[in-house]
Amino acid sequence: MKKPVVDYDLCIGCGSCADICPEVFELREDEKAYVIGPEKCDTCSCQEAIDVCPVVAISWGE
Ligand code: SF4
Repeated sequence: MKKPVVDYDLCIGCGSCADICPEVFELREDEKAYVIGPEKCDTCSCQEAIDVCPVVAISWGE
């Protein structure tokens, strides 16, 4: 199953991915986006979240 992976060195905590896929990404206190529900990518627009990330911090892992 494909799941999104966030590169924490790149993430600037803009929150766009969590806005698009709130069941998959969660912005935490350290202002990084965490992948909380990778299996939910079937039901949302994770590719859109990947495309909207301003610093290209999200990619498809395995
Ligand atoms: S869209 Fe990119 S930079 Fe913004 S919170 Fe998500 S991973 Fe971080």
